[in-house]
Formats: sequence, structure tokens, C-alpha cells
Amino acid sequence: MKILVTGGAGYIGSHLVDRLLGRGDEVFAIDNLSTGKIANIQPHLESDQFHLLNDTILNESLIDHLVARVDLVFHLAALVGVKHVVADPLGAIKTNVTGTEGVLGAAFKYWKKVVLASSSEIYGKSAKIPFHEEDDRVLGPTNVGRWSYSTSKAIDEHFAFAYSAKGLPIAVVRYFNSYGPRLDERGYGSVVANFVRQALKGEPITVHGDGLQSRCFTYIDDTVDGTLLAGEVKAGEGLVFNIGSNAETTILDLGVAIKRLTGSRSEIIRVPYREYYGEGFEDTRRRVPSIDRAKKILGFTPKVKLEEGLMRTIAWCRDHYGN
Ligand code: UDP
Repeated sequence: MKILVTGGAGYIGSHLVDRLLGRGDEVFAIDNLSTGKIANIQPHLESDQFHLLNDTILNESLIDHLVARVDLVFHLAALVGVKHVVADPLGAIKTNVTGTEGVLGAAFKYWKKVVLASSSEIYGKSAKIPFHEEDDRVLGPTNVGRWSYSTSKAIDEHFAFAYSAKGLPIAVVRYFNSYGPRLDERGYGSVVANFVRQALKGEPITVHGDGLQSRCFTYIDDTVDGTLLAGEVKAGEGLVFNIGSNAETTILDLGVAIKRLTGSRSEIIRVPYREYYGEGFEDTRRRVPSIDRAKKILGFTPKVKLEEGLMRTIAWCRDHYGN
């Protein structure tokens, strides 16, 4: 197949590109290298089967040209990570909303299936655990920057469902705290990257608040499995899927595990949220997906346990961080 991956040089996008090329697809990747990195796709640059377009998804004529040429689109390009979004709310809204509108509009024009990458951030601070795909969203006020990410992804999903109502094949995947090799060292959008960097450097491991907030950390291979299945399984069209592990871990326990697995002497310290995010930040206390739908319809099962995934991630970080 010919496949377009928007955000193809990004953390998740580049792993998806690896898998698609590995199974023999021809891949077009568009990425403006804002958070994506050329190093993530370096091994493929010489391949005849791989084409990198270093441009923004806001370039409508390029998107039109690319979508026309492929059989399937994985739309992952977005401004992601709570810290990025808090720092650049305008950029996040423009890329995530206008960019997606353009990609879906082109897909509608040429009638191409789209897998839209969305986020567990959609559920906001809902206290109804686990999160089911049809659950209500619970968000804070609009002057809290964090929620603009959730809202921008929700508009993307609304766009996708609007096109789906017209018959366009789409599937939406909501990622839950993916981690693995190629996470950005600066840790924007990933506590795992932050803690591993801190542990390897012997710096304090900074746990925000009481550290009892929890997440379900999902190893990248499982994130990619869910994404590929959403592209393949016909019965998944018109639906949204939680793609994540359902093993819940507190941030404090994550810090303890990373300290142990790296053999670090770093101390684990508690820091107030405002030191990292500024005043007025609101966190999500617990985030746990129901993966029943993804299991039943897509045949998705997360396979990599946290300890194993952390070991693989740490091994990669040792070679790539701080060089
Ligand atoms: N966090 C932390 N220390 C850090 C970075 C993040 O304690 O150095 C916390 C953060 O406040 C949140 C959780 O880890 O409670 C997950 O944050 P992340 O940015 O990885 O993703 P989120 O789930 O918030 O989108």
C-alpha cells in the first residue's frame, strides 16, 4: 500500500513508519520537524520506499497532492504534550484544528480512509474510572491553557465523525501515555522521559504534587499495534478506540521504578505543580482506559509490561540522552 503518515518524524509517527516500511508499504511522511526529529527516520532516508516532506500540514496544496497519491492516511501531526500546549496555546489550536480540517477535507475529496490520532486528554479530569469511549468529557475553564489541547482534539474528532456521517471511512485512536525509545529528552509531554533523564544524570527525580496521581503507561510497540489495527479492521470504521495499557501506576511508583531500573542515586523529591507549569495548572488525577472495545473490535491487546518497557526505554536513553 501507499501510506501517508503526517507527523512521520515524530515519536509515535516514526515508529509507525518503521513498521509500515518493514511490512513492505511505500510511505510518505510529512513533518515540519518542530518536535519531530530527522534522527528518528534517518535509517529510511535512502530508501526508495520512503519519502519525507519537510513541511507543515497547514500547506494545503501539498496535503492535497499527498492525499491524492496514497491509499490510507495516518494523521498524527499535532502540537502535543501538555507542556508544549501550555507554552504555545495558539500554535496548538491552529495546528491541531486547522491542520486536521485540511487533512480530512483532502481525504474526503479523494475518498481515502483516515486514522486520526487523538488523546486520552479528551476525557479531561473525569473521575469516572475507567474511561469508556462514550463517556462524558470533564474539562476546566477556557482560561486554563491545558484544556485547549483536549478541546482541539475533540474538534478533530467531531470533524472525523462529521465526515464519517457522510460515509468516509475513518477511525479515531485515543492514545494513553505512550512511552519508549525516541521520547524527547526534554520530557515535554512525558514524565517517563523526564524521570529517566534525571535518573541517568543523578539529578533529583521531580514528582509533582503528592505523586499519587496515576497514569496507564503504554509501550510504543503497543501504541503502534493499536494504530495499525485501526487502519486495517473494517469493523472499526466510524468508531473511536482507547489505545493504551490498563495497568495503572502512580507517578511516585514510576519514579521509584525508574530509580531502581537505572541504578540511580537520584533522590525522589516532591515539587509543586506551579514550578513546572506556572500558576493555575490543573492536573488529571487518574487516567485509566477501558480497552474492551479495542480488544473486541480491533483485536488489540497491550503486550509489554511496564518494567520491560522501561528497561528498553532506559537502554535507548543511555545511548541517546546527553550526547
Ligand atoms: N510529572 C511529574 N514530574 C515531571 C513531569 C510530569 O510528576 O517531571 C507528572 C505530571 O504532573 C502528571 C504526570 O506526571 O501528573 C504525567 O505527566 P505527562 O506530562 O507525562 O503526561 P499527561 O498524562 O499529564 O498528559
